[in-house]
Amino acid sequence: MIPCPICGRELRLFVNTYEVPFFDKILLTSISCECGFKHADSIVLGEKEPSRYTIKAKRSNLFTKVIRSTSGTIRIPELGVSIEPGPASQAFITNLEGVLRRVEEIVRTAMKWNENDGEKVKRCEWILERIQNVIEGDGELTIVLEDPFGNSLILSEESFKERLSEWEAKDLKTGLTVIELTGFTEEEISRL
Ligand SMILES: [Zn+2]
Repeated sequence: MIPCPICGRELRLFVNTYEVPFFDKILLTSISCECGFKHADSIVLGEKEPSRYTIKAKRSNLFTKVIRSTSGTIRIPELGVSIEPGPASQAFITNLEGVLRRVEEIVRTAMKWNENDGEKVKRCEWILERIQNVIEGDGELTIVLEDPFGNSLILSEESFKERLSEWEAKDLKTGLTVIELTGFTEEEISRL
């Protein structure tokens, strides 16, 4: 028996394998407890290496699947936004639209917390507009997914995969979800 780290009761464990054509087999694990504790992760089976996937998100490819492990960092360089691993970090399977919607939600919250700061509100509005322009218009945004353990993937032939150098992999955070928004202090972000 594996005890719950919160209440000590027995944890339920679910394991699913996920097979993707032309890609590796992926193991999705989730543990949960009656008290509400939950943790999900993804592990790519077979050969893996520190990797970076890059894709241009646009209206025509928003359904592209994204598997982000607890060690995966998502960055949108044009917006200065990144979602990094944190203590409460969970793995998730989503698509490019899901990634953009997540960022949208974070930015909306940041905007609410800073409603008296004209500069920040303006920056948030600009980000929301760029995202909207990809989902409904003809805009494009680069989505980068990096994982020092190679457990995160963007499942598309349009995505560009490269191996991370050792120092790049070392530089990535693992184990903590941290959201970085350029122009905001750490304290402001920690309230999100
Ligand atoms: Zn529990």
